[in-house]
Amino acid sequence: MRRQRFIKYCHHETDFSPARDLLFVGATDLSTSPISRIPRIGFGWDSHEFKPGIPLKIGGVTLPHHSGLAGHSDGDVLLHALTDALLGAIAAGDIGTHFPPSDPKWKGADSAIFVREALKLIDEAGYAVGNVDSTLILAAPRIGPHAAAIQQNVAELLGIEPSRVGIKAKTPEGMGTENAAIAHVAVLLCEISWP
Ligand code: MG
Repeated sequence: MRRQRFIKYCHHETDFSPARDLLFVGATDLSTSPISRIPRIGFGWDSHEFKPGIPLKIGGVTLPHHSGLAGHSDGDVLLHALTDALLGAIAAGDIGTHFPPSDPKWKGADSAIFVREALKLIDEAGYAVGNVDSTLILAAPRIGPHAAAIQQNVAELLGIEPSRVGIKAKTPEGMGTENAAIAHVAVLLCEISWP
């Protein structure tokens, strides 16, 4: 029941009144004050180099391309940045903290595993994902034709509606990163429960 109340709060702007809630903020003890109700933001960034002859996975979707992204896991640059954003929002370290590349267990791993683990930690911390926004930077392939599939897949992974997942892409414009894919991700988390 509390979770349902939260989701209503988090997803319906008309129920959100920061000014009202901040009136109750104590002046000294922030650890116990209602200021903890304020949503938390997270930011993640990642980059991987293209390597010929391996599958290209972005946002959990396999895209047709002559090269894929090299990495210890499946090299999914978007899901790695998303994992970092989720972990960062609750100050729980980064993807390397939880899934060290030195661990052979993660060789070739599906990066959805990393996102699911981050979601578990977020849930345990009392938060849920409000929305996500992302920007990919890569010369090829064009993301536009695949953006809807990536959006749908990331939304399913996060358990939120596709309308809460932004997928955008740019080209490097001669900045020298033509053989790499870069991802920036921002997330908003809101608290699940109320005092
Ligand atoms: Mg990575």
